[in-house]
Amino acid sequence: MGVFRLVKDAQNYALRHENKKYWPINSRTFILPIFVHPEPKYNAVMKKVMIIILLISLVGCSEKKSVLQEEKPAGPITLVIHGGAGTIKRENMTGEREKAYHAKLQEALDSGYAVLERGGKSLEAVMAAIKIMEDSPLFNAGKGAVFTNEGRNEMDASIMDGSTLMAGSVAGVTTIKNPITAAYAVMTKSEHVMLIGGGAEKFAAEQSLEIVDPSYFFDSTRYKQLLKLKEKELGKEANLFDPYINDKKFGTVGAVALDQYGNIAAGTSTGGMSNKKYGRVGDAPIIGAGTYADNKSCGVSATGWGEYFIRLSVARDITAMMEYAGLTLQQAADSVVMKKVPALGGDGGIIALDRQGNVSMTFNTTGMYRGYITKKGEAKTFIYND
Ligand code: ASP
Repeated sequence: MGVFRLVKDAQNYALRHENKKYWPINSRTFILPIFVHPEPKYNAVMKKVMIIILLISLVGCSEKKSVLQEEKPAGPITLVIHGGAGTIKRENMTGEREKAYHAKLQEALDSGYAVLERGGKSLEAVMAAIKIMEDSPLFNAGKGAVFTNEGRNEMDASIMDGSTLMAGSVAGVTTIKNPITAAYAVMTKSEHVMLIGGGAEKFAAEQSLEIVDPSYFFDSTRYKQLLKLKEKELGKEANLFDPYINDKKFGTVGAVALDQYGNIAAGTSTGGMSNKKYGRVGDAPIIGAGTYADNKSCGVSATGWGEYFIRLSVARDITAMMEYAGLTLQQAADSVVMKKVPALGGDGGIIALDRQGNVSMTFNTTGMYRGYITKKGEAKTFIYND
């Protein structure tokens, strides 16, 4: 006999014996008849059915509960980016170029923020923001990478996950359209942290990342600059020249994000320094120098004179000072960027953010392309030191 038939019988019984009107089917009418079925032989069956129903509903409830427990309350989401630090002065800029930089920074912020807003991870947001800047010739990364002394574009990139301390990086790559995606693949798909040159390119191809002909990275403004540098034989100073910043530096890009799960990620991507020689690798792909992230303290992406940033382990030093010395994010950033780096003779800047969503954009140069977007969706972009 079917369950519904049993229920129906029991209802009829209840109606007959209690002289009640028709009860609409609801949980009350469903439960009651189980214990009052007129035919005792069905009572045992009904009880079993009832127990099964109760068990199923309990499992259902506990499943719902565990889903809810896994979903942490949405914490603050924040994203901060940079597009390189250097002697960036108003007098060297055209209004048009200024606008172009603001627009591209905004686009990068929007792209990373969209990931965070829909509940995506900080790592994905970092990659999304950096990819926008890598695809733009305005910045010294990806499409806009500067030329080496041999007239090539050799790029470096790294990424780090503050929740696991997993990290990945590539250096000296010439055919990977978005080096930040290769750094991410090294982190997630290999047992290594850092791959260089041809090996990194082979790995990227195996991972089906977008591979381009090296000519994709050719940018005539940057190339002319290299020729000018070589012609003038400016030596050390000239090695650092970046045409878009109109002085000897830089143009690296980076992003640090905090997602709603409280996880921080940081990433950095660069073409390095104009006219660089002998397979030079800067700080950008060095975990602890150009990039570091640890949920315990903060995430950092650096830009500047790479050799100094490597010697001082800038990114790790900032996180360590928060962790060991109890400094705030801004105190730690100031101590490293405004004191230690200039004391050695280097310059540049960093972007960083901690778990509470506090942001630092600290630099000792006259400018740094930069911007942030807070949990309220308020975005701001800046260029100069004011
Ligand atoms: N830090 C980069 C490097 O030394 C350059 C830059 O930030 O612009 O390769």
